[in-house]
Amino acid sequence: MKSNLLNPAEELLIPYSDTVSAITEALGNAKNVLIGTHEHPDGDALGSSLAIMHALESKGITCTAYIPDAAPNYFAYLPGYERLTTVKPNIDAFDTVILLDYTQLPRTHLEAEVLAHGRVISIDHHYDNTKKATINLVVPEAAATAHILFPLILALDIAITQDIATCLLTGIFTDTGSFMHDSVTPEILQISSYLMKKGARLSHIAHETYQKKDLPSLRIWGKALSRISISPTTGASVSVITKEDLEECGATLDDLSGIVSMLNTLPDTKFAMMLVEYGDGKVKGSLRSEPHKGVDVSKIAKRLGGGGHKLASGFEVAGHLVQVDGKWRVTRVG
Ligand code: 5GP
Ligand code: MN
Repeated sequence: MKSNLLNPAEELLIPYSDTVSAITEALGNAKNVLIGTHEHPDGDALGSSLAIMHALESKGITCTAYIPDAAPNYFAYLPGYERLTTVKPNIDAFDTVILLDYTQLPRTHLEAEVLAHGRVISIDHHYDNTKKATINLVVPEAAATAHILFPLILALDIAITQDIATCLLTGIFTDTGSFMHDSVTPEILQISSYLMKKGARLSHIAHETYQKKDLPSLRIWGKALSRISISPTTGASVSVITKEDLEECGATLDDLSGIVSMLNTLPDTKFAMMLVEYGDGKVKGSLRSEPHKGVDVSKIAKRLGGGGHKLASGFEVAGHLVQVDGKWRVTRVG
């Protein structure tokens, strides 16, 4: 009996078959590919970048995977992690550029270069991707960019190896909030099951990404949790971490990844917002909500210059976090 296991994956790209053909054709001629993604790369950005790198290299295509800033070290288990480079590439040296999961070009730190290049393939699941590449495969129905890459890699007639499977499952696992978000469908579980059959170890991925916290990380979580407040006007649960807090705990911005989902578990709140001041006067905001709460947090993020999904969005502004009359405020610079 013929298995229909892969049908759900193939179905995802049926409405985009012309775009998929254009990508297949473009990659058929590619020899030297630059892979790019967004700043503060997360599991989907990194997993997708390395999955497509391994896939194309199996076809004899040379790949360079550029990340605008360093990847969190808890993703070091990803095959090919050591090849991710933060050294800004000379984009003209590549015949083709693939951009993944990035929403807007400024987040790739390659905006001007990409607009001048002329052979840029964009693959993203953010509905508000600005589609400024040469070929734009934007699939908002997908739970992760890695979810789009799975059928795309199969369409390119490339076998899913254990390395590719580990990278793709990482993207799916992290972008679905450990298989807890509304985006988890029977199809996502079928694809994940297939990836496990190809050698991806789900328990290992879960352990490395979320279940392994060092002392600085636990200390900074403690500080953030002790500072939760609920806004009576917006119904938001909010917490803040300043640069001094990070220094005091010896923690980094990456250590706070996931905390906003914890704030979002509070009953009777409308959405959650985590604000972190880091580096040289930057404030990163992360927003989350849940389907029954009826709030589209991407609209809030957009008003602040960011973007994302209805239930998970973010923004970044130049500024500082200061406390005025017991209330935390962002003072913007510039
Ligand atoms: P996180 O809170 O995990 O950093 O991001 C959640 C979601 O919001 C992600 O899907 C991410 O793409 C989006 N996002 C986060 N920060 C920004 C930002 O500065 N600009 C835009 N456009 N989207 C962001
Ligand atoms: Mn993603």
